[in-house]
Amino acid sequence: MKQKSFENLLKRLQGLTPDQVDALMRSIQDMTAQNAALTGIDQTARMACCPHCQATEKQKWGRTRSGTQRYRCNQCGKTFNGRTGSSIGHIRRLDLFYRVLQDMFASTIPGSVRQLAERLGINKDTVWRWRQIILRSLSQRIEPLSGIVEVDETFVRESRKGSREWVLHHRDPANYPKPPRLRWYEYKLTGALMKRGLSKWRLPVLTAMDRAGNRYAERLPDRRDRTIYQCLSPIIRRDAALCSDGLGAYARFAQASGVSHFVLGTKPGSRKIGQSFHIQNVNALHSRLKDFLRPFKGPAKKYLDGYVDWYFVRNSTKPERALDNLLKLPKVQGDSGTSVVQMESEVSPTSPSYTGTETGLRISARNASTCSSLVAQEVTNRVTELWTL
Ligand SMILES: [Zn+2]
Repeated sequence: MKQKSFENLLKRLQGLTPDQVDALMRSIQDMTAQNAALTGIDQTARMACCPHCQATEKQKWGRTRSGTQRYRCNQCGKTFNGRTGSSIGHIRRLDLFYRVLQDMFASTIPGSVRQLAERLGINKDTVWRWRQIILRSLSQRIEPLSGIVEVDETFVRESRKGSREWVLHHRDPANYPKPPRLRWYEYKLTGALMKRGLSKWRLPVLTAMDRAGNRYAERLPDRRDRTIYQCLSPIIRRDAALCSDGLGAYARFAQASGVSHFVLGTKPGSRKIGQSFHIQNVNALHSRLKDFLRPFKGPAKKYLDGYVDWYFVRNSTKPERALDNLLKLPKVQGDSGTSVVQMESEVSPTSPSYTGTETGLRISARNASTCSSLVAQEVTNRVTELWTL
């Protein structure tokens, strides 16, 4: 903008109403954050060597469409910028991508993919793909829980949204066996009997929190003793007091790890022991998690982990920080050029998620990097010990 027009713009600001000033301030803050993110990308490029040949000699080579500095390698002659080779290297409309990040981490209630697509004027599949890239980059920071630790599990209905299993089965029953359950709406439509209570189609999400505000959630493949031990062992200090609803697995975890254990009931009078031992905070957390998941109308099982992580890191993550994480993450094969149809059909009838069995916990893979090897060794020892008893 020319200096003269800018001065005119400033003069015209005088007539703004208080509401308009607020709106203007918000959009300026967004722009400042976005500029900070772009500076971060440029800084990465300034320090980096050529991602194609690792040479260090480079020269400035104009700017990319998103406004970041482009460099050209003196050795191989290829160009690159701070995003090249990262999980978001192929995204052309970085400004819109940043708006999606802002919506996910800085808005009070994140919008649905369709709402967001409409607001940004792009295809809903693009927003969906971006959201999946962001969700894959998230992980909860594990702070060991201490003091009074409330632990309980909540259940999320299993969903295969986007899977083509029934369509494929109707088209070619010989090669595509009948899926193990009806689609949820068909139970209502046909009056088919649904298993009551905790059937295998309800996925447990274990949540734990202490009174200092540290909290943690993990979707579990099942509620067996071993699974719960593996999940809780690295995150609960040995001097903690565990409050639970009395599921056998918690009692056995407490016994094996020497943690004191308080069992709370559901009937009036048994919901509290003394003034401080209860599981009401963790139950309130469950209801907030469910409220958060509701607008997404049951995320598919294979993406549920990402949504749970999203809820738990949402309040403590700033969009610029999330962008920073994405820059550090190398590109995953299939991120670009993969159509949504392909992504949906990657769940084939032969894939393990269909058999209903899952091997191991996500936490064990994650802990390998976040916990010290000593803790990991202790977990392995205790689990072996527990299971040879
Ligand atoms: Zn090079």
